[in-house]
Amino acid sequence: MVKNTLLQVWPIPAFDDNYIWCIHDGESALVVDPGDASPVIQYLNEQKLALMGILITHHHADHTGGILQLLQTFGSIPVFGPATIDIPGRTQAVMEGDKIEIAAPRLSLKVLEVPGHTLSHIAYFANMQANVVEPMLFCGDTLFACGCGRLFEGSPTQMSESLAKFAALPKNTLVYCTHEYTLSNIRFALAVEPNNANLISWAQRAQELRDKKLPTLPSTIGQELQVNPFMRCDTKEVIASASEISGEVNLKTPAHVLAVIRAWKDRF
Ligand code: ZN
Ligand code: FE
Repeated sequence: MVKNTLLQVWPIPAFDDNYIWCIHDGESALVVDPGDASPVIQYLNEQKLALMGILITHHHADHTGGILQLLQTFGSIPVFGPATIDIPGRTQAVMEGDKIEIAAPRLSLKVLEVPGHTLSHIAYFANMQANVVEPMLFCGDTLFACGCGRLFEGSPTQMSESLAKFAALPKNTLVYCTHEYTLSNIRFALAVEPNNANLISWAQRAQELRDKKLPTLPSTIGQELQVNPFMRCDTKEVIASASEISGEVNLKTPAHVLAVIRAWKDRF
């Protein structure tokens, strides 16, 4: 029988500030970027969920460290990951435009290649479907609430193009980032755009959520376009701040602006 209950997406906290997102229908589950197996096993056991697959966005250990133990525990389940790098335990190598059809929990995903944080970084996008009310994006360490990943391997141009792919998704897309970095990202965003009214009110709401130890995620694409300086490298406010901090008057492209504010954030 095909389960048609609405899919739930739940954050399993790991390490200091990671979220391992669990997508499930009440019986079958997928997890995204399990850097650690034990909190995943504990959650699945408590909720009586069967792990049916693993989605990996990039090769860093805090996103992949739990794969092998989960395979030992749950048997041979598919492990999706970027095709352009070797990730131990990966069974399904995927690339830009690939469609992933999962039977349980029933879900269709599209793969986006989003280099920047790492060169082989991918994201998974689920548009609306029978059991998905709002589109969902699992973006790994490419996009954070009010921030973006550090450029460990890719260039500012690559990150700028990756964020542009996200910006083109429906505004109501729920954005499932893998770290709770929101408050510190907001502090930096306020330095870039001290007069952004949406950002100022988000700062207050995010603080209230964290005071209650609640996640500030998921975000949405629409929200990030209003408050995230890295998604706003084409706005006059962010361009003006980038010019001021760098002393460069001629910041011609969003990638150039992103290069300036990413370097600023790295030393902030
Ligand atoms: Zn990472
Ligand atoms: Fe990470």
